[in-house]
Amino acid sequence: MSFLSETRRRRTFAIISHPDAGKTTLTEKLLLFSGAIQIAGSVKARKASRHATSDWMEIEKQRGISVASSVMQMLYRDHVINLLDTPGHKDFSEDTYRVLTAVDSALMVIDAANGVEAQTRRLIEVCRQRDTPIITFVNKMDREVREPLDILDEVERELGMPCVPMTWPVGQGKSFRGIMNLRTQTMTVFESGSERLPHDFETIALTERDTLTKRFGADFESAMDSMELATGASPTWDREAFLAGRQTPVFFGSGVNNFGVMEVLDALVDLAPSPQSRTSTTMVNRQPVVKEIQPEDKDFAGVVFKVQANMDANHRDRIAFVRMASGKYTPGMKLKVQRTAKELRPTSVVTFMSQRREAVEEAYAGDIVGFTTHGGVQLGDTITDGASLQFTGLPFFAPELFMTVILKNPLRTKQLQQGLAQLGEEGAIQVFRPEIGGPMLLGAVGQLQFEVVQHRLKAEYDADVRLEGCQYTGARWITADSPAELREFVNAYPQRMAKDAADTLAFLCTSPYDVRLAQERFPKIHFHPLREHA
Ligand code: GDP
Repeated sequence: MSFLSETRRRRTFAIISHPDAGKTTLTEKLLLFSGAIQIAGSVKARKASRHATSDWMEIEKQRGISVASSVMQMLYRDHVINLLDTPGHKDFSEDTYRVLTAVDSALMVIDAANGVEAQTRRLIEVCRQRDTPIITFVNKMDREVREPLDILDEVERELGMPCVPMTWPVGQGKSFRGIMNLRTQTMTVFESGSERLPHDFETIALTERDTLTKRFGADFESAMDSMELATGASPTWDREAFLAGRQTPVFFGSGVNNFGVMEVLDALVDLAPSPQSRTSTTMVNRQPVVKEIQPEDKDFAGVVFKVQANMDANHRDRIAFVRMASGKYTPGMKLKVQRTAKELRPTSVVTFMSQRREAVEEAYAGDIVGFTTHGGVQLGDTITDGASLQFTGLPFFAPELFMTVILKNPLRTKQLQQGLAQLGEEGAIQVFRPEIGGPMLLGAVGQLQFEVVQHRLKAEYDADVRLEGCQYTGARWITADSPAELREFVNAYPQRMAKDAADTLAFLCTSPYDVRLAQERFPKIHFHPLREHA
């Protein structure tokens, strides 16, 4: 297969949902139907128990699972589909945002009874900011749920973009009869159970209206009516608009019953985009110049969007997940970390073809490659085979929760520093070093991040710490147009200044008014609530 066809046949997407909407079930069915796994239940089995004794244990389990199954690759209709899972817990939303920077589209799973829920809303915001195309799957139609028109209405409102139904349900709950496929103009008849494969379902052409009416009676008639209302009110399918994040195709089904899932798999091939270009900056005559990296560019370039410590506490190695933006990866090729200009020396490299971890043969733009290293790689790092460039856009959010780290045994200072440096690089937490010295500060977006870090410092670095509350409630990364202005500002607030893991200067706040006051005093200083790795 030619290099160009290799990149064009790839699809890389994230699956997003509010917990319990059916993400795990759908993931498993997608893998099952593409032939990537043989037995239903293997994804599910690894999902953390819902009744874990404590929150962090739950998270520990999730970590175990996420190493194993956060990236899954499948081959379907001659296409290579990379599925990226996103963490379920809201306290880890930062990780989810970063995963969303590594994909070209998103599959949103909605529980048809609950509609768009809190966590989905946050994820939608991120997709919207990046104009990520979204495919919508309305799940659990076998339950007593809301009217499909009502659901579409809510999705439209929440997404701020029109829905285009691709399938339409006939009945729901006890009287769920099936779905009409509007593209093929057929009805697929619902039967419950998880044994059936897609071709085992009976299909009837919509032109056989008499048969359908006779068999499904009022359910069919009213489905036709609501479908006509829905299609009349929605715009016609426009792939360009979808790709620009201006309309979403909607599918209905029941994941647990294997029903309506094949349509989603086909949509990933037929509708979802192949790898898109990625923005980077490169220095030309010492000036940063924006450069779009195209998937068909021959040179290897990729960005680390996730770093995961190995679960084995005896090995200090970590997997850096790299989303390839261009080029071809082959084993043994020499790669460089742009930030340090050092060679990347992985101890092992994996891609995610099938569930077995076979040695990688080759990978292309859109693929995720996992490099196991002993360090030297951080979140946001750009990896290339020579070209000097830096990808932009990996977000870090200003933390809203802060804790001071107190080491219980002062003789473990070195271990603590190493642990914090590594956990900071991994993005598990943000670490701030106050400029005037004193204990380190941890900044988080979600409370659970603290528990995880405290636990991991002890388990992985043998550094037992106490976390104490402190007066800070926010932070802003600061920049100025001239070094003199920055100096003046730093001198005005010496106790408020701290550096993060990437050595970027931040201003620590104790109240929302702090920034406003500081801004009034120093109108030329820029306060950033978000830091993009650059
Ligand atoms: P996740 O938290 O989003 O990954 O959700 P899961 O896939 O674990 O599903 C949550 C619960 O909903 C589980 O008990 C599933 O068996 C159930 N579930 C998933 N899909 C369906 C469906 O289509 N119909 C019904 N009735 N239950 C479903």
